Amino acid sequence: MTDSRYIGRFAPTPSGLLHFGSLVAALASWLDARAVNGQWLLRVEDTDPPREMPGARDAILHTLESYGLHWDGEVVCQSLRHDAYAAVVDRLFSMGLAYACTCSRKQLEGYGGVYPGHCRNAGHARDGAAIRVRVPELIYRFNDRVQGPFEQHLGREVGDFIIQRRDGLYAYQLAVVLDDAWQGVSDVVRGADLLDNTPRQLYLQELLGFCEPRYLHIPLITQPDGHKLGKSYRSPPLAPAEATPLLLRALRALGQATEAQWAQASPDEVLAIARQQWQPQNIPRQMSVPEADLH
Ligand code: GLU
Ligand code: ZN
Repeated sequence: MTDSRYIGRFAPTPSGLLHFGSLVAALASWLDARAVNGQWLLRVEDTDPPREMPGARDAILHTLESYGLHWDGEVVCQSLRHDAYAAVVDRLFSMGLAYACTCSRKQLEGYGGVYPGHCRNAGHARDGAAIRVRVPELIYRFNDRVQGPFEQHLGREVGDFIIQRRDGLYAYQLAVVLDDAWQGVSDVVRGADLLDNTPRQLYLQELLGFCEPRYLHIPLITQPDGHKLGKSYRSPPLAPAEATPLLLRALRALGQATEAQWAQASPDEVLAIARQQWQPQNIPRQMSVPEADLH
């Protein structure tokens, strides 16, 4: 089956090296694209230099290559896209769809993470302030290909959210929506930790007149203590020599069948078979899968 309109992407943040959880996300989006002979793009989400780990970007690209997860075209870096983000923030601000917020962290305590709207009609100047987009008192919903229907009332559950931080850095929500649209992404495949970010992204897409991509949120791989795998928890970097066994374990995490003799195959050989046998409907419909269950 071929879908020439399919454009997928993997969008790692270079705050650390790839770990097993990121491999599962990269593999799922690669397989979903390659199964229909679609494109698979790579975007480095380097919007937050203070949180970056030196060398992480190159190490991530190198790991993907050594695991056989080859991408199409040039790598896009969000750090080179500031002009595009600034133009949209300016436009939303001048149209009154976004406003400056001077609230301190302390002023926002006790609202359960929902912005209470203190600065909504204050008319603050932009200098040194965060920029928030006004959200409507509406439910935003979508049908996730794995998790099923998901909805959020933006006004009650999120509140006006930040698109540019007080220090000038652009927020993930803004950058991801602008770049997915700019790159023509048709399908977003990523970890279920971002499921509840999606309604904010749907709202920005609607506001900016973009098409809505399809979404598939895969279960997060968790530590025995229930925490997400990540650099703060025990989670070894992905060694090139471990590529085949870890790809097989990642396939099992995604509910895909594997065969014992694949253990002798190269990563490219494993991926060539896996893309032909890709069954996204077999991905567990769960928010998380403990890593310990996959050995
Ligand atoms: N950069 C995000 C992350 O590493 C992924 C964003 C996305 O896929 O939308 O968690
Ligand atoms: Zn405020």
